[in-house]
Amino acid sequence: MSIHGPYDPENIFAKILAREMPVAMIATSARTIAFMDAFPQSRGHCLVIPKAPSRNLLEIARKDLSAVTDQVQIIAKAVEKALKPDGITITQFNGAPAGQTVFHTHFHIIPRYTDQALAGHSKGQMADMAELKKIAAEIREQMP
Ligand code: 5GP
Repeated sequence: MSIHGPYDPENIFAKILAREMPVAMIATSARTIAFMDAFPQSRGHCLVIPKAPSRNLLEIARKDLSAVTDQVQIIAKAVEKALKPDGITITQFNGAPAGQTVFHTHFHIIPRYTDQALAGHSKGQMADMAELKKIAAEIREQMP
């Protein structure tokens, strides 16, 4: 799919926003939600997305982008406290050729652990929902 095009209201994250898909939610704010990635590249891999529809960074309204990046920092700090990773990778993809697979703007927060290989992007195994909910609660406990 190209970097431009119509927003698909049936995309997976739109369904999560509509509560039509099960999800391990971490937190919601006025303009964002944060939840666990179902195919994590590492333990604690999570996503922050705007509530408003947009396909990517080129399309998102600036006020939503600000809200999302603020929340990315809040969640990343909570991940650091909760899971004690050795590093944290933040990624964001725009358009299929760049690696984007879900066409609703999102940022990845991927904890990194020394000596632990990272699963490939979109190549992680589907995680157990109960385990994801447990990690989400651990992260949430560390939020201000
Ligand atoms: P992208 O490839 O677009 O940058 O990232 C999409 C992310 O969404 C991937 O990391 C993928 O594992 C995740 N993902 C795909 N389907 C689902 C789902 O049904 N639920 C959740 N929570 N994450 C998903």
